[in-house]
Amino acid sequence: MKKKTTLKAVCDICLCVISLTSCYAQNKETAPVSPFEFRGIYSPTNALDSIRDHFGTHHVDYDWGLWGHNLHKVVGENPDESILATIDGKKDKDQYCFSSSKMYDQLVEYIIDNFGDGELPGSSTRISIMPRDNKKSCTCKQCVAAGNTSTNATPAVTKMMRKLAKRFPKHQFFTSAYHSTRMAPKEKLPSNVGVIISAIDLPMRVTFTENKGYRTFVSMVREWKEKTDLIYIWDYSRNYSDYLSPFPCLKVMQHRFQLYDRLGVKGIFLNGSGDDYAAFDDMQTCIFGKMMYDLALNIDAEVQKYYKINYPETGELLADYYLKLERRVDETNHIIPLYGSMEEVVESYLNVKEFSEFRTQMENVAEKATGPEKEKLHYLLTALSFTQLQILVMNPSDSNQQLKTKLIEQLKEHKKLKGMKNYGETDADIDAYIKKLEKQ
Ligand SMILES: [Zn+2]
Repeated sequence: MKKKTTLKAVCDICLCVISLTSCYAQNKETAPVSPFEFRGIYSPTNALDSIRDHFGTHHVDYDWGLWGHNLHKVVGENPDESILATIDGKKDKDQYCFSSSKMYDQLVEYIIDNFGDGELPGSSTRISIMPRDNKKSCTCKQCVAAGNTSTNATPAVTKMMRKLAKRFPKHQFFTSAYHSTRMAPKEKLPSNVGVIISAIDLPMRVTFTENKGYRTFVSMVREWKEKTDLIYIWDYSRNYSDYLSPFPCLKVMQHRFQLYDRLGVKGIFLNGSGDDYAAFDDMQTCIFGKMMYDLALNIDAEVQKYYKINYPETGELLADYYLKLERRVDETNHIIPLYGSMEEVVESYLNVKEFSEFRTQMENVAEKATGPEKEKLHYLLTALSFTQLQILVMNPSDSNQQLKTKLIEQLKEHKKLKGMKNYGETDADIDAYIKKLEKQ
């Protein structure tokens, strides 16, 4: 009789402790089946081939033929006039006309040149067909005949997608339920036409059902679900004002993933910090990867496991501190802010005294670390010096000049670290931040 494999080992790809019978990377046949066909994570950790190979996660840079509001890559920066929308009777450079046959021809040419017809194994791709990022909707004769109004461009956009979907049955075409395309179409869409729905209305808290935003989100998903089975969710996994401070979003996200599964959603795109470093991203990305397969994942146990393996000297301290934040978010059911100032972060989950003690302890223990742990801690402690500075800035009266100077020096280490140039999404250059603080 064949001996059953119960061997536990450390996977050399994801560095998690796994049972070799269930490791996604080593044994694809017995890997668990995810309810989501698309599992995108836009984070620096998920940009690593090894992580995507192991967790079977996706990345917009590799798994889409055309992503987001990027039709300008197909029609050019100065498209033919017939491609421009008609707004209030005039041609408008800021929006497209989706009844344009010229646009259709250019899209067909682009798809054939870059991906072929998708018939070859592995060559089918996902293509975004989205209006430009504003609320304008074309009301030319053809678009109005298709059903467009000045606030609803869904009819003309989905008409274009139906045509493309018929021409390329092996590729998938997605629009976004956003601005002028929030409304679902009247008719059912072909099986290879889908929609990406933003979860921005869904409050970022563990329990979110007693809320108008929840009801708005769920009814939008249900309306689209009547017209297409191909629904992906665009969700948010960072504080876009501050990538460098802790953002305990695992439990919040777990409840959202469970909701998406109940709603029959087929894909998740977690919009993280892109290529910019974010504190705790290495651990969170791995847990997201697993959670996209196992919706009931034991987060506490997984966080502890991750840190024990990857941070032999400091792992216990890191897991303890991080899980305290997750527990607080769970117990208080406070919103975790997506564009939060330090004041809002403190109000939500970050206890200043607890954080300062944790950071000091980390600095002391980190000296013992070696190899990859040492390198990861160089990043993390540099990031956390930003958090500590933000706390000082919040209470200028407590400001300790000596500590401030020391923290600024620590933050300057970011120059040595790849991917650590910005502390947030926009106008968030770390060097500019340092310069500003030095003047104060
Ligand atoms: Zn039009």
